[in-house]
Amino acid sequence: MKSAIISVGTELLMGQVTDTNAVYLSQQLNTMGVDVMYRYTVGDNDGRLSEVLDLALKDCGLVITTGGLGPTEDDMTKETVTKYMGDVLEEHQPSKEALMKMAEERHHKFTENNMKQTLMPTRAEVFDTDAGTAPGFALSNDAGKTIVCLPGPPREMKRMFERRVRPWLAPKTDCVIAYQTLRIFGKGESLVETEILDLIDAQTDPTIATYAQEGECSVRVASKRKTLKEAEDACHEVSDQIRKRVGDYIYSDDGRSLPEVVGEKLLKDKITISCAESCTGGMFAAYLTDIPGISEVFERGIVTYTERAKMEELGVSEKTIAEKTVVSPEVAAQMAEGLQKKTGSDVCVSVTGIAGPSGGTPEKPVGLIYVGCRYKGVTVVKKLLTLNMSRSWNRRYAVLSMFDTINRMLDGRAVPGSDHSEVL
Ligand code: AMP
Ligand code: MG
Repeated sequence: MKSAIISVGTELLMGQVTDTNAVYLSQQLNTMGVDVMYRYTVGDNDGRLSEVLDLALKDCGLVITTGGLGPTEDDMTKETVTKYMGDVLEEHQPSKEALMKMAEERHHKFTENNMKQTLMPTRAEVFDTDAGTAPGFALSNDAGKTIVCLPGPPREMKRMFERRVRPWLAPKTDCVIAYQTLRIFGKGESLVETEILDLIDAQTDPTIATYAQEGECSVRVASKRKTLKEAEDACHEVSDQIRKRVGDYIYSDDGRSLPEVVGEKLLKDKITISCAESCTGGMFAAYLTDIPGISEVFERGIVTYTERAKMEELGVSEKTIAEKTVVSPEVAAQMAEGLQKKTGSDVCVSVTGIAGPSGGTPEKPVGLIYVGCRYKGVTVVKKLLTLNMSRSWNRRYAVLSMFDTINRMLDGRAVPGSDHSEVL
């Protein structure tokens, strides 16, 4: 089934609101086996919306719109679509009753413009709302084309899609798509692609696509089959082949992020953790504390930005700083070891580096970062050297490297690009 998504709203064209609805709908429709061929954005304008409907329906049997179902004057999607499909609006009793009930419960005055929301096309399949005031609907014409209109507020739109549109649409599609996303850290997209190029070249179903994200990359495997089981099995088979090539750089195969993977492992075995951050300034702790329940294992995070802080808080030696400089493997190791002495946490991770854009020298360029990690009596220091990257990229990459180092040490795996030392 071919479909198009139309996002309606002048605020979207002005750049005041980001069009998250279209992203959500694309994802959902794709997993249901509905191909999204086009996405359009159009202002609250009757003539232009009609023109876009012409374009979309030329090629697609299904069009989904979001936005413009509200009670105010500029909301005209329903009126335009009804007219376009050769129908008229009439009062829809269940919608009216639901709206009046809601107004009463919330002690809102039922205003004249609210009445607009109780009108529905006569032939419509109405999707009631339990999250807002605007019902949605599906309206078909004799040519077998269908337009589904959903509200603009993302929360309302998603609720309606899940509760009403998905069950209505599912029986109309004849296949399902399963996805598997292999997330990779420590190998760039071009290297990963080279390693699996023959698989990519030979692909039909499942399809294989690589894409780069900030500091990491993913391979998405997708299969379209008659049943979910068939599609998932096909994905797993290809994923196993990819895993053989890319190896343990793949840290998750279900879309989970690196911090989530690490957080789960820490929580599962009640492994306590502390961090000492220099160039990331607390960003590691922020990522870690995004994980619900992490307070069970996260002992403390210290931002030791100056040399003095590193000496006072972590016992880094003045002599080491003088001899090796503050961005050195020795200082990263001493930070992690000092942190462990202070906190007694099972995992103690540290970072020191030059995030840029200034502060670099030929010997210690911008992007030189050392991650230290002490666990089970072993200190590992990993050297990072990013090239021509921004301050924010360097900092994010450092944080992900900290999680990657911990992830590997927790599993007892080697940390690429690191020196082991049995210090202390
Ligand atoms: P509307 O139903 O057009 O009155 O939209 C109500 C509100 O929903 C807008 O002011 C936006 O904040 C939000 N909204 C509308 N369309 C979208 C969209 N495509 N993506 C994200 N938010 C949206
Ligand atoms: Mg609007």
